Amino acid sequence: MAGVKKNNLRLKFDSSRNLAPAPESKSIANIADRYDLFINGKFEKPSSKKYFDTINPATEEKLSSVAEANNADVNKAVSAARTAYEKVWKKTSAKERAKYIYRIARMIQERARELAVIETLDGGKPIRESRDFDVPTAANHFFYYAGWADKLEYAFPNKNPQPLGVAGQIIPWNFPLLMAAWKIAPALATGNTVVLKPAETTPLTALKLAEIIQEADLPPGVVNIITGAGATGAAIVNHPDINKIAFTGSTDVGKIIQRAVAGSDKKVTLELGGKAANIIFDDAPLDQAVEGVINGIFFNQGHVCCAGSRLFVQESVYKIVLQKLKDRMESLIVGNPMDKNTDVGAINSRQQLEVIHKYLKIGQQEGAEMFQSSCAIPKKGFYCRPTIFTNVAQSNRIAQEEIFGPVLAIQTFRTEDEVIEKANNTPFGLSAGVWTDKGSKIFNMTSKLRAGVIWANTYNKFDPVSPFGGYKESGFGREGGLHGLGAYLKV
Ligand code: ADP
Repeated sequence: MAGVKKNNLRLKFDSSRNLAPAPESKSIANIADRYDLFINGKFEKPSSKKYFDTINPATEEKLSSVAEANNADVNKAVSAARTAYEKVWKKTSAKERAKYIYRIARMIQERARELAVIETLDGGKPIRESRDFDVPTAANHFFYYAGWADKLEYAFPNKNPQPLGVAGQIIPWNFPLLMAAWKIAPALATGNTVVLKPAETTPLTALKLAEIIQEADLPPGVVNIITGAGATGAAIVNHPDINKIAFTGSTDVGKIIQRAVAGSDKKVTLELGGKAANIIFDDAPLDQAVEGVINGIFFNQGHVCCAGSRLFVQESVYKIVLQKLKDRMESLIVGNPMDKNTDVGAINSRQQLEVIHKYLKIGQQEGAEMFQSSCAIPKKGFYCRPTIFTNVAQSNRIAQEEIFGPVLAIQTFRTEDEVIEKANNTPFGLSAGVWTDKGSKIFNMTSKLRAGVIWANTYNKFDPVSPFGGYKESGFGREGGLHGLGAYLKV
């Protein structure tokens, strides 16, 4: 195998791996120079008359400009959603609703390649991930919720489930199309109408989804997609004619939203930050565990709210796990997200890269030891080498705060009780991972870890059937599965 040498029984990798470039073509990405707001089934110019650029974080080149919705635009979108709810969608039979949702799912599949390429260009994630994870999972969410639309009476027997009305949905930049699907599919299945705002750095696939929704002939106003930054999001949150807010994003903004809706009768679900513990016991299959750790923290450059950003290794296997981890990190291919070989793509924005750099400094100042893979990274664009910290104290900021980048804080433990105590000792509670050969240990850990999702001997597995959501500062409410329907219903 080219570039792999045996050295003291462990493998050393040449990070370039001498692989020939395998770039995906951009030609399928049909990106307009400018995008307007999708309101009432049409693309409309913003009354703000303002547009902002969206760039490719891998190259810093401009991709398009996108409308910035102001209060008047938000009013227009909410009013379209209200009219569509009262006049059309509320009265549309569940079976008909399901047909539309199913049609959207099929159209996402038909345009999967285009969507994957645009997702990667706009957000920086490796094309392999957009192609094999984001886009198919987005389609799956529409398929799954299409199936529920006419079975709500069975999901909530004797509870007479009714839609809430207009849902305001605000999503982040880490899984742009997938988050839009997570939010729109259950809302439509339950008979609600939608005003959705994608994140300012990654609006393009949501706008492509708007085109799909238009082509699917969904009645005008049932889904409205408007673009803008925090002020647009705040205008949605504060709008008096919205019945439900579904937000995924940072804990800081989640807290602002929680305060803003206090005292109103808006129903809210918040899916916020995380600082997940990935826990390796000495009886675990170590190679698989290391692979799970790599996937847990370097998938999507670590821009994942449920990323396994803390690793706890049982002391007796610490040295071997650390060595395997470093070796594996050296084999990761970092760089052009459009290359099909790339494992770790571009950081989503300059601003996020600065946040990550800030934490790399903090980690070192706190006395932790930093190791980065030795790969070369492109000169232009926003990139960060896969990074781990050892010698980390429980109180260190890199062990307590969400970094949202390819940065792992490693600690050790001796007993189950000790690791449960350490793993739970954060303000967050979104996810966790446990690696062990013993089923009894898995049950003990899953019952004591305070996290909404716990994976055993795997990590970052998603399915529309499984509810997802957090405890503590990771938010509340569940998305996905039957639970995800409840969040959009009066029962
Ligand atoms: P991230 O850390 O992922 O950038 P943010 O919470 O800042 O997370 O952003 C998530 C989404 O929330 C984005 O669509 C952003 O525009 C929106 N947003 C930012 N500030 C506010 C706010 N005050 N009210 C509502 N939405 C906001």
